Order: sequence, then structure tokens, then C-alpha cells
Amino acid sequence: MSRMVWVSALATVLIVGAVMALFSAPAPPLRSEHSRPAAHAPERMVAIVEGGKLFHDPACTYLHGKAKMVTASEAIRLGYTPCPRCMKPALAR
Ligand SMILES: [Zn+2]
Repeated sequence: MSRMVWVSALATVLIVGAVMALFSAPAPPLRSEHSRPAAHAPERMVAIVEGGKLFHDPACTYLHGKAKMVTASEAIRLGYTPCPRCMKPALAR
């Protein structure tokens, strides 16, 4: 019985450690190696597409597919980079 307690305690520690490692990761890998990461996150909602690489203004003509609205900081956290056509201010340094 005490063996079971140890096994479940160890499993809990491993799961908690994995989750914390996931959330404390400094910067996510960029979805596109060819675009620049955002210099700063604009305080606004942006449109992302599942499987896409860029985040856009919802009115951007380069936005294709079913868009999902998230905050710019959330999009950056997910590894999206600003669209160079409609997100120029986010790229400005
Ligand atoms: Zn765009």
C-alpha cells in the first residue's frame, strides 16, 4: 500500500514539474523562422488562424480562413508573429 502512495506522489511531482516547465518557458518557438518577432505587444485584439504563423488586424486582406480573436500578447505567447502589412506598429522599434 505504501508503495502505491509513493508511486502516485512521484507521478504528481512529475506532472506538476512538467506543467510548470511548460508555463515558465521563456519564449515560445516562432511559428515562422522568416518573420520578425513582435517588438512589443499592441494592447488590442488581433485575429489568428489555426495553423497560421501571423496575427492580423481582423480587417486585413491577408487574413485567410476562419479567424479567431485573441489578445496580441496571447498571439505572441502562442508563437505568432505580427503581419508585416497590417501590424506595422507592432514591428516598430
Ligand atoms: Zn495582416
